Amino acid sequence: MDIHEYQAKELFRKAGIPVPPGEVATSPEEAEAIARKLGGTVVVKAQVHTGGRGKAGGVKLADTPEEVRDEASRILGMSIKEFTVEKVLVTPAEDIEHEAYVGVLVDRSSQAPLFMVSPEGGVDIEEVAATNPEAIRKLPVDPRYGLLPHQALWLADFLYSDPSLVKQASKIIFQLYDAFHSNGCSLAEINPLIVTPTGEVKAIDAKVSVDENELFRLPDVAGYRDVEAEPWAEGRAREAELSFVKLDGNVGCCVNGAGLAMATMDLVKYYGGEPANFLDIGGSSNPDKVVAALEIITSDPNVNVILFNIFGGITRCDDVANGIVEAIRRIEIQPPIVIRLTGTNEEEALEILEGAGFSAHTSMDAVVERAVELAGSS
Ligand code: GDP
Ligand code: MN
Repeated sequence: MDIHEYQAKELFRKAGIPVPPGEVATSPEEAEAIARKLGGTVVVKAQVHTGGRGKAGGVKLADTPEEVRDEASRILGMSIKEFTVEKVLVTPAEDIEHEAYVGVLVDRSSQAPLFMVSPEGGVDIEEVAATNPEAIRKLPVDPRYGLLPHQALWLADFLYSDPSLVKQASKIIFQLYDAFHSNGCSLAEINPLIVTPTGEVKAIDAKVSVDENELFRLPDVAGYRDVEAEPWAEGRAREAELSFVKLDGNVGCCVNGAGLAMATMDLVKYYGGEPANFLDIGGSSNPDKVVAALEIITSDPNVNVILFNIFGGITRCDDVANGIVEAIRRIEIQPPIVIRLTGTNEEEALEILEGAGFSAHTSMDAVVERAVELAGSS
């Protein structure tokens, strides 16, 4: 679950990280009032679940409360990537001498929390990784011991040469690990970590993703969920109790069982295609789940074909077939649908589908190959 910058900053403040104050507004008038209260030059920042807001015009400095109102009225309602801005953070503007990057994320290949720091902050860290990888220092953390003080110092030492700055940054890095760990994060990032002209180190941006599986034991963090700010498909999937992950390809996948869903994505890749999503409709399927799955898959404009791969055990193939027929009745579906389905009540399912004008097959290979073909040609 992604949370907003202002929420991430709350978590960082609780961990002791120096973060400038600020308040959130949902209207230009509110933004103006906050600016009056803060006094001086402020920054108006779009609160959306994506980076690159600066480049998109969603981060603006404003000298007077009137200017803040104008900037807020321009930023509220604007679109950044697929997100519409509903809230802005108004925060005092800082003078910046230097921008660094500090982040920690759960890393698959090191199978541990991995710190990444760079003296080249402010910009996209992926860009630095691609063009100038030597500018990034990395450190996997052994979760049994957490981050150790000398490790924090070693990371901070890569950012600055001045010992006073290194000391401040190592403390912040230490606190960042604490915030990351105690809030069940999969990612916690400060970009930029700034140095002010008076030699203070501060976090002026904050990005946090929380592992969904941690939320049941962290009610305060769970309360940060902003359904309106999340992609529509994610909310719909949660409501229908489907496990769904959006990907970048064009083969929409609807599968029962996480293992089969993974195998299906592998096979799509094997035949040269790219899956548009991971979607597991779960063990006991009812037609409503299939309808929801199709709504979710077809909400992605990249999807050129919809691939069903059902292995009927507890899931009954005829339930899935009924779901597909029901979905066609309820929603308009443009992309072609290819269906593989085998197992419990397979014959009933084939009959239902044929009656509705679909052809379904029992061979997984042939159907996936056909889906990839169709995805490429449309
Ligand atoms: P992002 O683009 O979504 O990562 O948003 P950031 O909060 O990181 O802001 C983008 C850039 O705007 C920063 O790298 C800074 O260069 C600039 N910026 C943000 N806040 C301030 C501020 O308080 N003062 C100044 N001078 N620049 C700022
Ligand atoms: Mn940033």
